Amino acid sequence: MTAIHEKTIKMRRGRFGKMRPGHPWVYKRQIARPDPSIKPGSLVPILDPDNRFIGRGYYNPHSDIAVRIVTFHDEPVDQRFFDERIRRAFEKRAGLFEVTNAYRVVFSEGDGLPGLIVDRYADTVVFQILTLGIERFRDMVINSIGSILDPRYLYEKSDASYRKAEGLGPVRQWRGPKGAGEVEIREGKARFIVDIENGHKTGFYLDQRKARLAIAEVAKGKRVLDLFSYIGGFLIHAARGGAALCRGVDIKREWLALAVKNAALNGVSHQIALAAGDAFSVLRKVYSSGEKFDIIIVDPPSFVRARKDLAGAEKGYKELNLTAMKSLSEGGLLATFSCSHHMPADHFSDIIKRAAADAHKTFTIVKRCHQAEDHPIVRAIPETEYLKGYFLRMYSKDIA
Ligand code: SAH
Repeated sequence: MTAIHEKTIKMRRGRFGKMRPGHPWVYKRQIARPDPSIKPGSLVPILDPDNRFIGRGYYNPHSDIAVRIVTFHDEPVDQRFFDERIRRAFEKRAGLFEVTNAYRVVFSEGDGLPGLIVDRYADTVVFQILTLGIERFRDMVINSIGSILDPRYLYEKSDASYRKAEGLGPVRQWRGPKGAGEVEIREGKARFIVDIENGHKTGFYLDQRKARLAIAEVAKGKRVLDLFSYIGGFLIHAARGGAALCRGVDIKREWLALAVKNAALNGVSHQIALAAGDAFSVLRKVYSSGEKFDIIIVDPPSFVRARKDLAGAEKGYKELNLTAMKSLSEGGLLATFSCSHHMPADHFSDIIKRAAADAHKTFTIVKRCHQAEDHPIVRAIPETEYLKGYFLRMYSKDIA
């Protein structure tokens, strides 16, 4: 029960105060005027307008999401709580280790720990704190990671832009002994050197693992073009799968430098050609040259950071996919993705359909792709589902 002296947050009466069932977010507009003495970041019981307990969550008056509920039970949120949640998340991933030693151990709301990301890269663990509420539990989080995952090195990479909305600055530092910024990991049959300090996210796009492994299965003898290569993820799997030739593009030279190293590490340098450039203009050149590829991978960064960007993003996705479709050989495979939650799956599917119509192509859906299973999609929390994509087999209109 909530102690008599404990400060609480109360939901507003009526439809304004209605929460989505099972969803941990409470928006500012949903709560009754809060007691101004509640410290930002503190953990408080959330009550309905009739003072019934809903859950316990942490409060941040500076964020639009005023409360993130961490438990719908009346239980203490202490070291044991973090130990239990992180252990449960870790145990859920046990089967993955056979496939890879690089995976997400804690996926924020997807694992009941809003604001916390924990990724494992071999013997190094990287964590990210996204919210003020979790910031206050940093020591407990570090203790739990230490006792459950027992990493050799632990790096905090709390530099996501979202922290600004929570009133927080960036934090990047080794917690304990300083490890190497570059870590070697395995994924399926491939190996990668990942730069956890400077790389995107915590170093690797762990969420695309399943699609990368699937590309290896269809690449034999094929000519492959990967427009957003990063450190060579798709290319190296394709090359190991026997691709005749893999061409990679990325706007950032330093990622391609790491892709070169990764190609050598896997013994596939002779199959891979990399060039820095803008994917849009490279693709236009490919198309006008008449060169055709058997597989084209379109895995761009999130063009839609907020809902208001949707129209511009749509144009980008459409152009990329349309030109890629026109640059494929007959029956070629388009592997296309969108990693923004603000681009709904049906909307994305519609863009692809329109691109195909404009390219005078028809297609069959070979495979629907989602984020890998270490990024759990919770049905009650639609924001946990963000990565979608397809493997599409493209045909000229008059043939299919
Ligand atoms: N498919 C990769 C991840 C791609 S992330 C994997 O599985 O590992 C997106 C990449 O696109 C980043 O490396 C970024 O540097 C690159 N990028 C962003 N804008 C670009 C542009 N206009 N042209 C080419 N690459 C771009």
